[in-house]
Amino acid sequence: MKTQKLYYENMYLARCEAVVTEVRNDGIVTDKTVAFAEGGGQIGDIGIIVKDGVGVPFFDTIKGVGKPLVIQDFPTIQIDTPVIHKVNPDDIGGFLVGDRVVIEIDISHRIKTTVHHSALHLALMAATKYRPDIVRYIKGCNIAVDSARLDFASQMRFTDEDMENINSEIKTMIEQGTPIETFKHNGIDDAWDWKCGDFVIPCGGTHVGSTSKIGEVIVKRKTKGKGIERMIVAVTNELLGVDDYVRD
Ligand SMILES: [Zn+2]
Repeated sequence: MKTQKLYYENMYLARCEAVVTEVRNDGIVTDKTVAFAEGGGQIGDIGIIVKDGVGVPFFDTIKGVGKPLVIQDFPTIQIDTPVIHKVNPDDIGGFLVGDRVVIEIDISHRIKTTVHHSALHLALMAATKYRPDIVRYIKGCNIAVDSARLDFASQMRFTDEDMENINSEIKTMIEQGTPIETFKHNGIDDAWDWKCGDFVIPCGGTHVGSTSKIGEVIVKRKTKGKGIERMIVAVTNELLGVDDYVRD
């Protein structure tokens, strides 16, 4: 059964009431959730599901199987996906379909993934300025708590000068405090675009509302294994804080 993803309506909502719609071997599905489900390279949220005043931790959030939707000039997405809050197998038995629960995310975890996700976009924007053909070399990305990375095919090699330029460009973008917006692509549910300045890219992750909230960023490069050029982004002093989030 489809889960309503409240983080798309308000990325700063940290807690919601929900009803359990499915109890699986690997976790709990609810009718709605504030927990971001892993996608687009961004890891899932962690937090607690509270039933009858007792909190059970969930250690990951993922999407179940939905329906594919092919959209012109946009990546194919899955719609109507259930969201699974992964809990320890010993905790599964405590839940029944129809249970009323409260879902609360770990805000510090969300802050870290959010600022790293937005910083990775800035890194790509900055790199595109110096290497305009860069996007076609992208092989993958990962956005976690301590860092985010973009992997490129071997034809892409950043020089020391590129890295200096990229780092100083990002610093400028953060100082300028450019608004970051997310909006539905052609009004389609679950198809999201990310916009900062003139840069628009399909993305359904969680983001800061302004580049100024990211704080300080260091971008490094590294050659990873055979033929992979890796860009690693670390946020060192984010300005997004717990007070930016609401619980109701
Ligand atoms: Zn993104």
